[in-house]
Amino acid sequence: MILDMFSLKGKVAIVTGSDTGLGQGMSKAFVEAGAKVLGVSRTESTATQEMLGEENFQFIVADLSTLDPIDNIINTAVEKFGRLDILVNNAGVIKREDSIDFSVDNWDLVMNVNCRTLFFLSQAAAKQFIKQKSGGKIISTASMLSYQGGIRVPSYTASKSAVKGITMTMANEWAKYGINVNAIAPGYMATNNTQALRADAERSEAILERIPAGRWGTPDDLMGAAVFLASSASDYVNGFTLAVDGGWLAR
Ligand code: NAD
Repeated sequence: MILDMFSLKGKVAIVTGSDTGLGQGMSKAFVEAGAKVLGVSRTESTATQEMLGEENFQFIVADLSTLDPIDNIINTAVEKFGRLDILVNNAGVIKREDSIDFSVDNWDLVMNVNCRTLFFLSQAAAKQFIKQKSGGKIISTASMLSYQGGIRVPSYTASKSAVKGITMTMANEWAKYGINVNAIAPGYMATNNTQALRADAERSEAILERIPAGRWGTPDDLMGAAVFLASSASDYVNGFTLAVDGGWLAR
C-alpha cells in the first residue's frame, strides 16, 4: 500500500546538525516514521533526545570542519543500532562578509563543513551501504543559493552550489548499488541560520514580500520531503535537488 512505502520502520539514520533547527525537525520526522536516529552536532543534541526518547535517538558531538570524525560516526551508528540505511548531511555554517573583504578563514570553514566533509561522509556511508548489500539513501541540505548568487555569502553560495552538483555525481555513480542520492533546498526558514537576516528589518521585509506562501518556513515544513527521500517511495528519484521554499524559486 502506498503509505507503507513511506514507512521507515527498522531503518537507521544518521542526521548531522541534529541539535537544532532543520536537523532536529528531520530527526523528529524519521522517528515518527519508525526509524532510529544517530544525531551528530557541534553541541549536544539533548533537547532533540528529550523530544524523541533515548531508545529512538542517540547522539554524538563532533566537529565536522575536519574529516577526523567520519569513521567514528559510521561505526557508532552501526554499533548502537546494528546497521545504516540513511545519511542526512544537514550540518552547515554560513559566514556573511562583503566579497571584497571576504577572508580565507571564512572561505575554508564554510567549504569544509558544507562541502568537503559532506562528500567524504557520504562516501563512507555509501561504503557501508555497499558492504551491507542493502542500498541506502543519502540526502543533503542544499539551499536557494544552490540556484542563486546571494549577497555577502560567497563561500556559502560556492558550497551549496557544489552540494547540488556532487549530489548528481554521487547519484550517477551509486545508483547501481541501490543508493539514492538527493538533496533538499529549503527556502528561507526561521532558524539560527537566518537570525541575522530576520533581525535586519529591511532585508527581512524584502524576503518575505517575495515568498508566494507569505511566510518564513519552519523545520516542520521539511518533514514530508525528508521522509519521502529517505523512504522507498523515492526509489526511482536520483540526483535531484528538491526545493521546499514556499514558491521562492518560482518567482
Ligand atoms: P542552524 O544554524 O540552527 O543549524 C546548523 C547546524 O549545523 C547545527 O545543528 C550545528 O550543530 C551544525 N554545525 C555547524 N557547524 C558544525 C561543525 N563544525 N560541526 C558539526 N556540526 C556543525 O541552522 P539550520 O537552518 O537548521 O541549518 C541546517 C542546514 O540547513 C544548514 O546546512 C543550512 O545551511 C541549511 N539551510 C538553512 C536555511 C534556512 O533558511 N534556515 C536555508 C537553506 C539551507
